Amino acid sequence: MSIYINGIGVSKGITTGFAYVITREQIDVTQQTLRESQLKNEIRRFTKALAKAGEQLHNIKKNISKNTPKDIVVFIDTHLLMLEDPAFNEGTIANIKQYSCNAEWALHLQSERLVQVFDEMEDPYLRTRKDDVLHVVNRIQKCLAKKEQKNNHAKLNGRIIIADDLTPADTIMLQHQKIAGFITEFGGPLSHTAIIARNLGIPAIVGLHHAKQLIHSDDMLILDGTQGTVINTPDALSLKHYNRLRLNQLTKRRLLNKLSGKPATTQDKVAITLHCNIDRPEDIKTIKKYDDTGVGLYRTEILYIELNQWPDENTHFKTYRRAISALKGKPLTIRTMDLGADKEIQDIAKQGPMAHNPAMGLRAIRRCLKQPEKFLPQLLAILRVSALGPVRLMIPMLTNVEEVHQLLSLIDEAKKILKNRKVAFDTRLPVGAMIEVPAAALAVDAFAEQLDFLSIGTNDLIQYTLALDRIDEEVNYLYNPLNPAVLKLIYMVIEAGNRANIPVSMCGEMASDTQYTRLLLGMGLKYFSVQANTLLEIKHIIINSNVQKLKKKARLILAMHENSEIEAFTKQLNLNH
Ligand code: PEP
Ligand code: MG
Repeated sequence: MSIYINGIGVSKGITTGFAYVITREQIDVTQQTLRESQLKNEIRRFTKALAKAGEQLHNIKKNISKNTPKDIVVFIDTHLLMLEDPAFNEGTIANIKQYSCNAEWALHLQSERLVQVFDEMEDPYLRTRKDDVLHVVNRIQKCLAKKEQKNNHAKLNGRIIIADDLTPADTIMLQHQKIAGFITEFGGPLSHTAIIARNLGIPAIVGLHHAKQLIHSDDMLILDGTQGTVINTPDALSLKHYNRLRLNQLTKRRLLNKLSGKPATTQDKVAITLHCNIDRPEDIKTIKKYDDTGVGLYRTEILYIELNQWPDENTHFKTYRRAISALKGKPLTIRTMDLGADKEIQDIAKQGPMAHNPAMGLRAIRRCLKQPEKFLPQLLAILRVSALGPVRLMIPMLTNVEEVHQLLSLIDEAKKILKNRKVAFDTRLPVGAMIEVPAAALAVDAFAEQLDFLSIGTNDLIQYTLALDRIDEEVNYLYNPLNPAVLKLIYMVIEAGNRANIPVSMCGEMASDTQYTRLLLGMGLKYFSVQANTLLEIKHIIINSNVQKLKKKARLILAMHENSEIEAFTKQLNLNH
C-alpha cells in the first residue's frame, strides 16, 4: 500500500529511488565523580579527543572533490574553528575542574549552555547555528568513547537517504556517493543541511518527523522536494505520474537553458532588463551559470557582517573591484550598507542599548548619515570602482528628501577628496534610491527629481506598509505582495519613474516570484533584479507576454479592493494570456 508523508520541501526536484536509513549509535553520557588526582588525566583525555575530532575533519576536508561549492567547505571550517573556540575547550575543562566530573559530562554541560545561547537569539538564521554546536559535540563525544566514524555507506549511488539529521560533513560524504535525495526528521529551511541541498541541487525534505519509523531501508520511494511529499511504496499509477512530472521538469530545465544569452523582449517588442541580486562578488559565478547579465542589487552589508566591523576604504574597494571584474562589462548596482533590524554587527550593537523596534530604528542610510565619517570610506570606494566599469550607487531606506540632499552633498565631498588625490572615478556615477518606506513611495516624485534611478524594495515596502515584522512568524500570514495598498504604492513608483524619465527596477523577492511577473509587466515594470536560479523562468514568461494586453488587465486589478479577488485575477493572468 502506498503511504503519503509530508515534511518541509527545502530543495526542489522530483526523484525516485530505494531508501537507505542511516541509524546513529546513541552515546550514553552519564555523570561520574572523579578524585582530585584523576582530573589531570581526564583533561588530557578530553584534549586528545579534541585533537582526534580535528584530525577527522581535516581528513574530510582533504578528500572533498574540487568541484564542491565553496560554501560547503566553509561549513567544515566552521566546525574546525569551533573546536578551537575557548567556549568549547576551556569551558569544558573548567567544568571538569569545577564539578570534578568526567569529560563527557563536562562537555554535555557546556553544550547545553551554548545551545541555550543560540536558542535565545532573535535571528532565525543564527538560531539554527545550534545544530553546528550539536554536531561538533557529537563528534567529540564519539572520540571520547573511541567510536570510529565508519564510512559504512557503501552502495548509496541512486539511494534516498533517511536520517534524523545530517551534518555538513555527512552531506559532503554522501554527495560523493551520488545519492538521489535525502529526508531528515529534524531541521528547517534555514538549516545548513537545507542550504547544502539547495547548493548541490539534491532534492530534499527536512522536518519529516518519525521518518525512520515510517520508512525502512530498501523501501521504494518517490521524493518531491518542491511539495515536501514522500510516497512510500508507490503504486504503478503514482510512479507513472511522478515519472512524467520528472521528465517534464527536465525538459523544462533544458528548454529554459536555451534562453541563456537571449534578450528578454516581450512579444510586443518591449525590452526588459533582467539582472540578479548578490551578497558577495563570488555569487557572480552562479549568475554566469544561468546567463551573462548584470547585478541589480549588491547587498554590501554582508561584508560588514563577515568582518564584524565597518570595513576601511581599501577593503571596500578591493571587494567591489572583484565584483566589477567578474562582471566583465555588465552593470553593477552597489547598495550602500543596510545594517540594522535583523542584520547587525558587534561594533554597532555595543554602542548602545538595542532599539525597541530595530526594524524602525537606526537602520541603513539613517545610520550612515548619523556617522558620515564612517560612511565616507564606502562612498570613496564605490566612486573609485566606478572608474573600472558600469557602476551605479543605490541607497537603502530613504524616508525623506532631506536625506537625499545630505547624501548628495556627502557624495560631492567624496568626489572632491578623490580629485585632490588625483584618483579616477566616473564623474556621472548614477545615484538612485531604494523605495521601501511608504513615505518615500508616497512622495516619490520628489525623489525622482533628484536622483538617476529608483528601485522598489518590496521586502521592506510590504513590511512597513502592512505594519508587520518580516521575520515574525506570528504575523507572516499578513505578508502579501498582492495587498491592494502595496500594489498601489508600487504603481505610483513606476509611474513617477516614467514621468521623470528615469529607470525603475524592482529588487525585492516579489520580482523573483513567477506568479507576479505578468502583473508587474502590466503595471509597466521594465527592470527586474532577481535570484539567479529564477532568472530563466522569469525570462521565459517575459518572452511569452504582451505588455499592451497585460496593461489593460493590470488596470482592472489595480482598481480591486479585496485580496482574494486580486489573487484570483492575477492567477488568471498567468493562465490565459
Ligand atoms: C527589499 O527590502 O526589498 C530589499 C531588496 O532589501 P533587503 O531585503 O536587503 O532589505
Ligand atoms: Mg530592504
